[in-house]
Amino acid sequence: MGERDLTTEVYCHDLTTESRCCLCGCRHKQNKAAIRLMDRAQVAGRQMVGDVCYRCVTLGPQGAAQLMVQRADQRAKGAVMIATENVEQLAETSCVLATPAFDPQWLADKIKVIPESQWATNEDLAWAELEKEVPDNLDAAHKKQWMAEHLQERVKQFRERMIEW
Ligand SMILES: [Zn+2]
Repeated sequence: MGERDLTTEVYCHDLTTESRCCLCGCRHKQNKAAIRLMDRAQVAGRQMVGDVCYRCVTLGPQGAAQLMVQRADQRAKGAVMIATENVEQLAETSCVLATPAFDPQWLADKIKVIPESQWATNEDLAWAELEKEVPDNLDAAHKKQWMAEHLQERVKQFRERMIEW
């Protein structure tokens, strides 16, 4: 694992639920699995920092870190109006804003250097979802084929699960 502390990974929770991205703060729908930011050395004070949305996953470590700082900055200035929820609710659920003295730039610097090998992709997440849906009556080889056939279509659906953008 080396000295790198932060990583993202797919996890299954078996819930059809909504979550808020711990980086950009946007709400999104989840279907039984998600990607989370993990803090192996607890550099940010806790092991699981939070869920990461489809867009931040796509942006990659550098792009997501940049968006996080930008959004935190906009929200701090009150420039971004949240359509369905107020800012206090947002602060409760977003790790970026939940800690009063928290410096988003500090976390962004840690995220930026996450190597690609430790950054889960939307394909990884789609695969985890499809594993739960693959018909039982197929043998192992056909299960894999079924999942491969549905992979790109599933990844495309992720964009529609973003409630805020
Ligand atoms: Zn996000």
